[in-house]
Amino acid sequence: MVAQRRGAAIEISGLRKDYVSGQGTVTALDNVDLKIAPGEFLCIVGPSGCGKSTLLRILAGLDKQTGGTIRADAEGWAVQNAMVFQESGLFPWMSVADNVRFGLDTRGVPRSEADPRVEAALRLVGLTRFRNHYPHQLSGGMRQRSAIARAFVTDPAMLLMDEPFAALDAQNRVILQAELVRIWGQTGKTVVYITHSIEEALLLGDRTVIMTAQPGRIKRIVDVPFPHPRDLIQLSASAEFGRLKLDIWRVLEDEVNRARAEMEL
Ligand code: ADP
Repeated sequence: MVAQRRGAAIEISGLRKDYVSGQGTVTALDNVDLKIAPGEFLCIVGPSGCGKSTLLRILAGLDKQTGGTIRADAEGWAVQNAMVFQESGLFPWMSVADNVRFGLDTRGVPRSEADPRVEAALRLVGLTRFRNHYPHQLSGGMRQRSAIARAFVTDPAMLLMDEPFAALDAQNRVILQAELVRIWGQTGKTVVYITHSIEEALLLGDRTVIMTAQPGRIKRIVDVPFPHPRDLIQLSASAEFGRLKLDIWRVLEDEVNRARAEMEL
């Protein structure tokens, strides 16, 4: 088993992010309050430029907030997280297995412990047979599977995903979405998942956070009432799904229009 430890609880309070440059100050996030339960799958939607990636980068510790606090707790162990982006970010000169093991190597995990963890992570994403392939020998979907294995192998408390399947074709996207939900169910990690797609948020998440146009604030949080495990194709064809998608679009529409109007100024 790759991951025995469950996900972290996260509490974000009064979060603010200002970017200061020669052109002036951009407030990317303003007064964001959000509690995320351990093991929750939380999706965030909002127009381009509303601060989604900024929020994820701050959660990952790659950027620092201007104000406010983030508390992340996992039972009895230090919070670690892993990110998955739209591009897999695999090293082209390393095999799939070496790419997956890389995060363990940099943490000084000995090979005797790392190798079984890599094998388990590859099994989790169905890539055992491709362990010795190089990234250029893989399809886009397989590269993203490798990126997911690389994220899970470190046993993170949080998985931070920034539109991880946006560059895939529609069929591969559906397959990977279903795989991710299965893996999440198996491992109980806390997932924060950014997407442009309301549909994707409703298929995958427990809750959907809708953000305002810049400066990014939380406009509404919607509980997604569909029980797990979900048959994603069947769910996306249901009347209830269609109704909820429309409700969320009505909330988001003004923000998308506002963001577009500001870009055209
Ligand atoms: P999203 O992910 O929702 O598209 P971002 O978090 O990338 O939004 O960006 C939010 C806002 O902050 C945008 O207006 C963007 O131009 C600005 N921004 C992001 N990163 C920087 C930076 N490093 N310097 C200045 N402004 C930035």
